[in-house]
Amino acid sequence: MIVKENPARITERVGVVPVTDPAGVDAAVRRAEAARRDWSARPLTERIAALRDGAAAVAARAEELAVLLARESGKPLADCRGELGYALAFLEWVCERAPGVLADRELDDGAGRLVTRRRPYGVVACVTPWNAPVILALTKLAPALAAGNTAVVKPSPLAPLTVGQVAAALPHIEVVHGGAATGQALVTHPLVRKVAFTGGGAAGREIAAAAGSMLTPAVLELGGNDPALLLPDFALTPDDYERLVMASFATSGQVCMAAKRLYVPRRRAGEFTAAYVAAAERILLVGDPLTPGVTMGPVISAEAAARIRALTGRQGTAVPLGRATGDLSAGYFVTPTLVTGLADDAPLVAREQFGPAVPLLPYDTEDEAVARANASDLGLAASVWSADEERAFVLAGRLEAGFVFVNTHNRTGMSPRAPFGGVKRSGYGREYGEEGLLEYVQTTVAHAPAAFRPGGPGMPATAYPGRA
Ligand code: NAD
Repeated sequence: MIVKENPARITERVGVVPVTDPAGVDAAVRRAEAARRDWSARPLTERIAALRDGAAAVAARAEELAVLLARESGKPLADCRGELGYALAFLEWVCERAPGVLADRELDDGAGRLVTRRRPYGVVACVTPWNAPVILALTKLAPALAAGNTAVVKPSPLAPLTVGQVAAALPHIEVVHGGAATGQALVTHPLVRKVAFTGGGAAGREIAAAAGSMLTPAVLELGGNDPALLLPDFALTPDDYERLVMASFATSGQVCMAAKRLYVPRRRAGEFTAAYVAAAERILLVGDPLTPGVTMGPVISAEAAARIRALTGRQGTAVPLGRATGDLSAGYFVTPTLVTGLADDAPLVAREQFGPAVPLLPYDTEDEAVARANASDLGLAASVWSADEERAFVLAGRLEAGFVFVNTHNRTGMSPRAPFGGVKRSGYGREYGEEGLLEYVQTTVAHAPAAFRPGGPGMPATAYPGRA
């Protein structure tokens, strides 16, 4: 059994789910396999209608689900409402765009007739993290189902409840529960034809190896250590500063694409720090996720809290940020912190912190800032802040990141139409956008060369040189 506690009030039990054993995983995959032929044979318009019905059922319960999500994940209620709303908006975007993206293409010209079709894989295995569990399940499930696949999803044991309820409202999704062992049983199942994973690099390697052992293709969305680079001409309004603060501290910093390193021109570092601390005082209110006005809750677990405190306690100068409300000793609360005076090899700079602590890193020249921003094995996202948008876009092209935000960072810079994913060790494949839909289909071809049609010229001399 997985007993899910509320990370803001750890004596409160939010729910319980059973761990799915290997026989249960096998049964779930077989049910998904049994359903896939009929589902993929249905016209796309019918599949879209079924997805929209499911989305309407989720929307009708959105408030109840948002409260459940807040209680199991520790994210502020407003964020949880936002996540459900964005997940449904993304599903609708998929429904609108799928007919165009998935349509057969046909060419019939002097070279012959060529038809390309977008065929579903079959059963898709989705293994998802806890930090944005609904949207990160739907970025996989919505395109997979629209394209005619069926799916088995394994949510994180740290936030399994809301995903289970959302999945139950949508067609042809099986849910299995557990940790790494359940994930491995799912990913290595011989009837799984595609794996979609979001999570950390350690689990990502094991998932990729397991999928590779079965020759099952995978899309991997892994961690990031995203730099936010303020160019020397940055001109931030108070609102911009608040957005930048939340880019690091939303979900207590536990976001793959959070701003995790702040690069600021040295001669403007003092001015920046004062305005940043003032913005945090206005926008960051730490407390119970269900308390109105709270913008930052606890971290997910005791281990996470200990890990993050160790990162901020050892080196540099920690500047506590924001305000607090209520009894923070009841849960896994960590004070949000800006840390100055760190060397580039300090753990808080060099590794993904995945928590509410962010290093401030002064720089002297733009080239130096770009080199330091790129000095990471990870390359998920980044941001550039400048009064000159054109200049920011040019600089964005020099950053080694799958997604560069301009004058914003994190959730405020996302769009269903913009493909998202990492470079370097932040993963491969894409979610969102047309690329995200195409992850769930394989292109197949039927081809009649004009040469062999009745009256055609026959074997072209160039096809097999030397053969008549
Ligand atoms: P995690 O890697 O610990 O777990 C993710 C999922 O994988 C969970 O469902 C977990 O049970 C499962 N899992 C773990 N080990 C496994 C194994 N060996 N085999 C099969 N399944 C296994 O990640 P988490 O703590 O839930 O999330 C934090 C990490 O996820 C961070 O590194 C964060 O940056 C990353 N993340 C990335 C994105 C993105 O879009 N790139 C989004 C959110 C989170």
